[in-house]
Amino acid sequence: IRLSLVGSEMCIRDRYETRKLITMSKVIKTPSMLGMLGGGQLGKFFVEAAHRMGYQVTVFDPDQESPAGKIANDHICSSFSDKSALEIMINNCKAISTEFENIPSETIKYLEEKVRTHPNSEAISIVQRRIKEKEFIKGLELPIGPYEPIKSAELFSDFEDNKIFPAILKQSKFGYDGKGQYHVNSVSETKAVLNDSNENEFVLEKKLNLDKEISVVLSRSSDGVSKIFPVIENQHKEGILDLSIIPARVNDDLKKEAVAYALKIANNLNYVGTIAVEFFISNDKLYINEVAPRPHNSGHFSLDACNVSQFDQQVLCLTNDNLLDIILEKNAVMLNLLGDLWLKNGEVKTPNFSEIEGPSINIHLYGKNQPRAGRKMGHITVVGENTEDLIIKAEEIRSKLWEM
Ligand code: ADP
Ligand code: MG
Repeated sequence: IRLSLVGSEMCIRDRYETRKLITMSKVIKTPSMLGMLGGGQLGKFFVEAAHRMGYQVTVFDPDQESPAGKIANDHICSSFSDKSALEIMINNCKAISTEFENIPSETIKYLEEKVRTHPNSEAISIVQRRIKEKEFIKGLELPIGPYEPIKSAELFSDFEDNKIFPAILKQSKFGYDGKGQYHVNSVSETKAVLNDSNENEFVLEKKLNLDKEISVVLSRSSDGVSKIFPVIENQHKEGILDLSIIPARVNDDLKKEAVAYALKIANNLNYVGTIAVEFFISNDKLYINEVAPRPHNSGHFSLDACNVSQFDQQVLCLTNDNLLDIILEKNAVMLNLLGDLWLKNGEVKTPNFSEIEGPSINIHLYGKNQPRAGRKMGHITVVGENTEDLIIKAEEIRSKLWEM
């Protein structure tokens, strides 16, 4: 009897080991090479996360000086449509992710047919064009503000609906940080912008009275499990994110609703990786603004305030590993540092960041050589207990940097 018991125990253990091996074997082992399309700061944080976990990274970016390219194991410096360069990625990398939504979806499609690539090309192709993105969101019956798709300037000539003004005319493709956006108050103003532009596709969005803006950042694994970061409150200046406050100061019902919408979007995009959904709150109602198929500027607090960052989760998604449960260890306020700070007083000068150093102040500089107005050069996250105190602290840091 004993013998047979031992026998059956071993058998069960063997089966367990085999099963573990099968599930484990799906995880991409260290020190495999991962690929990153795009070499900006989001790519740089991905490289750092991947390195910490023991992976190597090849960054693909046309810019010789890209922040991520500089710290990667390999940097392929070529255009996203260069097939022979993409072949090198395919041969060198066990899996590939992106940090930039404007990579041609054809590039992603080419790669995903040969190597594990996330997010998928279909998801990217939807969210990289505002018209398609809005149609997709409407198709899911999620709330979206009033807008008019403009597929060509000629088609707009018959437009007469004045209820949409004041409005923001947004280029459908290649917009970010408020670029490619025009504030317009009438049909004739809109036509003037359209006539001046080389772009064809636009959306005309009614300007909403914003109570607040919030975002939801989440990571979704291949088996459809999502881990959601705390809801983030965002303040923009001239269309560019300025300050993020975590957790957002909005009621729990709105937060739950926003999370449910973000999950619905990620699930319906068959999304794998870290994704962000931006929301407007107007008259206490949520409207979806846009979707970013990548980690998000507003999620940077996770580097300093959580047990796991949005980039760590992106690596775990890509390598088919289990995602971690997210714990917000401290409240946080994040302040973006734009090139304007480097250019004040009409000269190019790096601010003296050592003067603002202190406990709970986390300074991140992206290593970009050329500061430009509106260019994201770095960010600072202050962490602590009381949100209102953190906002005051962040504003004090801002003033100090500007007064230097
Ligand atoms: P980007 O791709 O540059 O982030 P967004 O569409 O998110 O472009 O616009 C940037 C910011 O401009 C928003 O976060 C918001 O502050 C403001 N904005 C954009 N659209 C509207 C709108 N319809 N009503 C009010 N504010 C808007
Ligand atoms: Mg935006």
